[in-house]
Amino acid sequence: MADIRLDGVGHSYDGGKTWALKPMTWTWRDARAYALLGPSGCGKTTLLNIISGLITPTVGRVYFDERDVTGVPTAGRDIAQVFQFPVLYEEMSVYDNLAFPLRNRKVPKQEVDRRVRQVSQLLGLDQVLGRRSRRLDPGRQQIVSLGRGLVRAQVAAVLLDEPLTVVDPALKWTLRSKLKEIHRDTGHTLIYVTHDQTEALTFADEVVVVNDGEIVQAGEPAELFLSPAHEFVGHFIGSPGMNVVPAEIAGGVVRVNGGDVGAADDGLPPGPVRIGVRPEFVEIGGPETSPGVPARVTEVDRMGAYDLVHTVAGEHRVIVKTEAGAPYRPDDGVHLHFPAERTFLFRDQVRCGSL
Ligand code: ATP
Repeated sequence: MADIRLDGVGHSYDGGKTWALKPMTWTWRDARAYALLGPSGCGKTTLLNIISGLITPTVGRVYFDERDVTGVPTAGRDIAQVFQFPVLYEEMSVYDNLAFPLRNRKVPKQEVDRRVRQVSQLLGLDQVLGRRSRRLDPGRQQIVSLGRGLVRAQVAAVLLDEPLTVVDPALKWTLRSKLKEIHRDTGHTLIYVTHDQTEALTFADEVVVVNDGEIVQAGEPAELFLSPAHEFVGHFIGSPGMNVVPAEIAGGVVRVNGGDVGAADDGLPPGPVRIGVRPEFVEIGGPETSPGVPARVTEVDRMGAYDLVHTVAGEHRVIVKTEAGAPYRPDDGVHLHFPAERTFLFRDQVRCGSL
């Protein structure tokens, strides 16, 4: 097992005209569980395939600890990779499919049996070990494919590319916690690719957010939620995502729709900025509350566990997440307050300060 270090690694599929992955320097620490989170087409699979050796990067070097593996093919890297679409021997039993990666590496028979039973029990496959994998439903086939990736105890890393897409949603929760258990047990470096924030946040020690071919922020789930460094992270994580409202800094004060929202950090030059604040942290009150930004309620979604109060401040939409039973109706005049410790300022999408 090893740290996996990307040194200036980037990839272009069209001879350098566009970069599916912009050159980046980044280290995956040994034995951590990572989620690689981003929308479709942002470069997640490209990044994973560079780590496993399926793709040689256009620029940069890949190191496993001090060993330069940039030109080393997949077979020489000791990586277990699970693809979104199950890769199984359809005519083999589930047991033989799970045992295959171990037998292939001449692991003693008893140890093969122990690992296969351990993994199949954790993933709920122990009742179907004797079945041919072709006879399983697509969800189960995907779980067997996941099991094949997890069965080897000695690997540099386990790479999982959207491994649960066709699994029943209720079962997904269970499997994610089983995955955590397996990870604790084996201490593998695990990289789990997903475009689903719930999957990422419930699974990982560290979430690496990718957008448009670059890592925009990495951190523990709470850090990404409470302290987004990039507007994209604010939008992509959270439900609904962070409110972003155009504002103006003048005389050291930040103004939105004619209302002061607070003092800007020292040293921030005057001019336009964007304010980011999550719906959970916007405070809402009647017009008598001050100081605040005047706004009008447009809609209230009663979600059961909470309410979403949709407002418009001038022409800017702001959603407020409140306790269930919020006493607001469409067309009510309200004031919004953005608490300084939870409100950030962005320029060119990147955080440049706070209130
Ligand atoms: P998804 O979740 O949809 O799989 P992703 O985040 O994994 O997306 P990639 O598959 O890495 O993203 O793709 C990144 C970019 O590279 C996309 O614009 C994609 O169209 C492009 N791309 C990926 N593979 C190839 C290829 N073999 N040839 C040309 N372009 C490619």
